[in-house]
Amino acid sequence: MNVEFIIIGQGITGTWLTHYLQKAGKSFIVIDNNQSNSASRIAAGIINPVTGRRIVKTWMIDELLAFLVPAYEELGKELGIKAIDRKTLIDFHPSPQMKIAFDDRVKENAGLLFQPKDQWQYLETFNYDFGFGEVDPCYVVNLKEILPSWRKKLLSNKRLLEENFDIEELKHSNTRITYKNIKADKIIFCDGISSSQNPFFKNLPFALNKGEVILLGSRDIPSTTIFKKGMMLTSIESELYWVGSNYLWEFPDDQPTEQFRKQTELLLKTWLKVPFKIVDHKASVRPANIERRPFVGFHPTYKNVGLLNGLGTKGCSLAPYFAKQLTDHLIYKKEILPEADIKRFSKILTR
Ligand SMILES: Cc1cc2nc3c(=O)[nH]c(=O)nc-3n(C[C@H](O)[C@H](O)[C@H](O)COP(=O)(O)OP(=O)(O)OC[C@H]3O[C@@H](n4cnc5c(N)ncnc54)[C@H](O)[C@@H]3O)c2cc1C
Repeated sequence: MNVEFIIIGQGITGTWLTHYLQKAGKSFIVIDNNQSNSASRIAAGIINPVTGRRIVKTWMIDELLAFLVPAYEELGKELGIKAIDRKTLIDFHPSPQMKIAFDDRVKENAGLLFQPKDQWQYLETFNYDFGFGEVDPCYVVNLKEILPSWRKKLLSNKRLLEENFDIEELKHSNTRITYKNIKADKIIFCDGISSSQNPFFKNLPFALNKGEVILLGSRDIPSTTIFKKGMMLTSIESELYWVGSNYLWEFPDDQPTEQFRKQTELLLKTWLKVPFKIVDHKASVRPANIERRPFVGFHPTYKNVGLLNGLGTKGCSLAPYFAKQLTDHLIYKKEILPEADIKRFSKILTR
């Protein structure tokens, strides 16, 4: 088989990259091992434009939102699904001080942060003591449908091999990539945390980060809103809610823990006033890095070996934008944003 690109991984990153390659009329084959707890398969898909105790806007969020909302809508149309939902985030203030901090930020972020007049409208559903602020717009990306729908499309176009990629089988020169019976011009890794073990890219400053989630069933929680009190709670399908997550930099494995389950169950029992049932508990590892900026581009020595990775906690907002940048770089030789281009690590990558 001869193709222009071999793409490793069909998480949200590989999905977007192959979407843009397909649009550009490029030939490619994806190799993905369908790991059931890959980050994209565990994530809620929440896009929250503000972050931290200081409630500041996240990196590049205005530019990202302007790009990603129509991009997901277009992808949804192509797949016949609703790919993105706009939702309001209800941020329950954990203390009177945080309420004051939120109020101060409202003045500086009109049109994004709101302090509603009726602070107690969720008292039938939740216990809370200090009112809440609203963040609007937020979004939830429908990963649950996007990933399998795109996979089905790749399979029906014979563009996906469902198998484990074994780097020992990869042969490369500066002009050619050979993997088993596949010959390609370039290979691009969209394989999440696997790249941190990859001989080409393992020197990059990955800082892998584990997170756990609880799925709960309930008939009584509003589904059009994201709720936050320590953790996020959002509807992901009818009567099914996603609750998470924690952030662990040191962990023995990628499996769910009893400790998280107990802690979260306790939190839910004190937070929720309505009946609920825990139906699942999952864990995954985020392909995060110490700079909190994406890893995009080609290896400085092996110029036909590329990477689209390092999206950390923000895969859903960063993947479409940087997949498009990488595609434009490949086709029109456009510059990749310097803060994201792996050129910035040339020294450590050529060591
Ligand atoms: C608990 C949790 C909650 C999160 N919540 C959110 C959220 O609400 N919003 C948000 O934007 N982000 C969230 N994230 C982060 C988000 O999940 C990641 O940023 C994103 O999924 C990374 O996507 P990716 O495609 O780079 O990697 P992955 O999703 O890991 O995809 C990699 C793909 O490569 C495949 N693969 C790997 N190795 C091989 C191999 N050797 N051979 C073949 N195939 C291989 C895997 O099967 C997988 O399909 C969350 C993450 C976690 C863990």
